[in-house]
Amino acid sequence: ARVDNPYEGAQLYVNEDWSRQAAASGGQAIADEPTAVWLDRIEAIDSGSAGENTMGLRDHLDAALEQGANALQMVTYNLPGRDCAALASNGQLGPEEIDKYKSEFIDPIAEILSDPKYADIRIINVVEIDSLPNLITNVGSRETATPECDVMKANGNYVKGVGYALATLGDIENVYNYIDIGHHGWIGWDDNFGPTADLLHEAATTEGATVDDVAGFAANTANYGATEEPYFSIDDSVGGKSIREGSKWVDWNRYVDELSFSQAFREEAVSAGFNSDVGVIIDTSRNGWGGSERPTGPGSTSGTADEYVDSSRVDRRIHLGNWCNQDGAGLGERPTASPAPGIDAYAWIKPPGESDGSSKEIDNDEGKGFDRMCDPTYEGNPRNQNNMSGAKADAPVSGHWFQAQFEELIENAYPPV
Ligand code: BGC
Repeated sequence: ARVDNPYEGAQLYVNEDWSRQAAASGGQAIADEPTAVWLDRIEAIDSGSAGENTMGLRDHLDAALEQGANALQMVTYNLPGRDCAALASNGQLGPEEIDKYKSEFIDPIAEILSDPKYADIRIINVVEIDSLPNLITNVGSRETATPECDVMKANGNYVKGVGYALATLGDIENVYNYIDIGHHGWIGWDDNFGPTADLLHEAATTEGATVDDVAGFAANTANYGATEEPYFSIDDSVGGKSIREGSKWVDWNRYVDELSFSQAFREEAVSAGFNSDVGVIIDTSRNGWGGSERPTGPGSTSGTADEYVDSSRVDRRIHLGNWCNQDGAGLGERPTASPAPGIDAYAWIKPPGESDGSSKEIDNDEGKGFDRMCDPTYEGNPRNQNNMSGAKADAPVSGHWFQAQFEELIENAYPPV
């Protein structure tokens, strides 16, 4: 039988591909932290995810046994028409290739995970980053809509793919599925929050899936939102006006950080029909925001709400919608089990040092496009309200090693390394 929280009392697998790279790149102090294995295309199942990674899923599971680990974190990330609102991680499957997704991606993964020799390893599976949230915010008449997301909403292949992954992998006793919920700066607005919980529930009850196939949700995966904003809160006011209304950074959002968002989303999901024992994983691999730019206390409330929030927030991004290789970011909380009520873990799902996307067009055979949100000279689009991208220059294709970013993440780590 499954345990309530697979992180509790677990020894997590240290991804040997990432660990070797991190140790060889000046990251000896953190190279023994557990990071997730990304199954980011069909080939990754046998020969490793993008970039310098070479280990397939069986290699990782065997290495986990050798380490004496009893839990392994992985990400299934290969839906048809993947990454419909961005280009940096466009995948290998076209929008209609749902059958190929099932038979050449999910089924072979299920076959490996069902091997009895791995039965004592808790498999923590983060399911399909960004997909369902994209169907809420980037479709229809919204200014943020893209034609690609409209296609994926209309053909139903994200919902079917997620349902099939949950059902098929959820049949394996030692698999714990966590569905991606974006992050507070995406799903934290009222218009998006409830509808996301409902859409996730729809996906979790399609293609044979049931809510029993879902251990919980994954927040902030590969994103940069602070776990906690220690120096201001959503309840603050400036000049008698709530910062929800007064501050452009907050802009009517209900949440200012990932912890408050995740805890509230958990409750919302239970109301939408998920089991009451679901938990949330928060990706803290790159949301530390330490370094010299970090505020050391609350800003003054004698000026405008913008001045107050901007001088109080530890998240130093130009805009909450910025997601690619953010300049100034640092490693966040080291992986921790049960850090707060409703939270199964702070975990490093995005392997720090792996790029989010190239800052210029780079030819590749991984299906990855060039998204200008990764170009530091880009002036933005409706999804970041036309702000500068905040991305670091000279980045390689997503998933490939980005040494300059890795060094900055260590330098700006919070807590410090
Ligand atoms: C990329 C994947 C990569 C993952 C982890 C994603 O943005 O598309 O190829 O495995 O990041 O670095």
